[in-house]
Amino acid sequence: MVAVLVHGGAGPRRDQEDPEGAKAGCLAAAEAGLAVLARGGSALDAVEAAARLLEDDPRFNSGTGAVLNAEGEVELDASIMDGEHLRAGAVAVVKTVKNPITLARAVMEHSPHVLLVGDGADAFARTRGIPAVDPSTLITPLQRQRWLERVRSSGGAGGGHAGPKHGTIGAVAVDARGQVAAATSTGGTAGKLAGRVGDSPLIGCGTLADSRLGAASATGLGEYIIRVRLTSAVLNELSRGLPIDKACQAAIDDLVRIGGDGGVIAVTPRGELGWAFSSERMAFAWARGDGSRGAGFENDPVSKP
Ligand code: ASP
Repeated sequence: MVAVLVHGGAGPRRDQEDPEGAKAGCLAAAEAGLAVLARGGSALDAVEAAARLLEDDPRFNSGTGAVLNAEGEVELDASIMDGEHLRAGAVAVVKTVKNPITLARAVMEHSPHVLLVGDGADAFARTRGIPAVDPSTLITPLQRQRWLERVRSSGGAGGGHAGPKHGTIGAVAVDARGQVAAATSTGGTAGKLAGRVGDSPLIGCGTLADSRLGAASATGLGEYIIRVRLTSAVLNELSRGLPIDKACQAAIDDLVRIGGDGGVIAVTPRGELGWAFSSERMAFAWARGDGSRGAGFENDPVSKP
């Protein structure tokens, strides 16, 4: 059965948060992905559509509304993977692209490479007709204000690893042919050093899809996720025969074991959906071909599909 599951980032509960808004944003993205599948589109098309919507939603830390680095700049990372042919594309430290997930797909489909970074990635976007946006258009007043607060509290420097500010986005999907795909897009961590790259654009860490097993997308502090290869861990557990929820939980347990904190979502080729998170909250939502829908925010009991 076709299905789309998305997340809007894992992290601690903060004041002035809007759980309903985050859930609504995730649900809209899951619906957008499902609409693609309902028209006969591929899982790859579905995760790109869902991710683009979340990148454009300023509530989430990706695309427009991304957190700022130590210099007060946006640097975006994203990756996408097609589980049918094990093709993957990724970009990191991109500054002038509104939808990095589409650029990641262009790297996959129109270059001989998997990962492009920095100026080269922005330049490649131009060769594919992806227009340059003024970086300031990606910065929301809220993120500018948070950056200024960090600068003030650190006595002038905008730097310091301020810890994750949430809202990295991700999507996984299974299509009518039982093929799976995954996508992840982020502004990284607030106050990160310029040039820092997290897990999100790294295949097997933030994103992984293999239609023999499933697809997964991670969120949380990349410095830990990279070391446990979080999405790879989920697929390894699936290959050992674990049910999808237990596979996600086992991978998160390993993350916690080394001091990390975060979440992961996953789908199998049979349309089973799973997620787990150790953080106080992770916004997520799913939509399935049978009409069932759902969204969650905290580790409260939610009805699982
Ligand atoms: N995983 C992202 C990164 O480390 C951040 C997040 O998911 O909140 O770049």
